[in-house]
Amino acid sequence: MSSQPYPRTWTEFLDQFSSEDACLAYLEGLRWPNGFICPSCGVASVPYRASRIRMMCKDCGHQSTVTAGTIFDKTRTPLRVWLAAAWYLTNQKQGVSALGCNGCSGWAATRPPGRCCTGFAGRWCGPIAIV
Ligand SMILES: [Zn+2]
Repeated sequence: MSSQPYPRTWTEFLDQFSSEDACLAYLEGLRWPNGFICPSCGVASVPYRASRIRMMCKDCGHQSTVTAGTIFDKTRTPLRVWLAAAWYLTNQKQGVSALGCNGCSGWAATRPPGRCCTGFAGRWCGPIAIV
């Protein structure tokens, strides 16, 4: 499980995700709870940062972003909007009852019932489950 704190109330949500940077930092913590791991060569090291979201592996030069390979990638919708939608869903009864995939983060509850580890947290689920 991720050790990232999960907002319990809307006020906490607004507090925690007050900016796009805060959202990115949260997603980064979900994706790489033990620090950046290069998706290309698997080396775990502190990457070069070309921008606030773009990171480059010092070992092989592979460039990655925290949102690469997720539905957040290539979207112009602010992350706050996505996270707000995910938070809202996970706080609904049917959202919570969809929980039950061991190792998934709270966001994984947004997946359609019966379909494990797809949707919002899909691509993050694997690494989180291994940890
Ligand atoms: Zn690499």
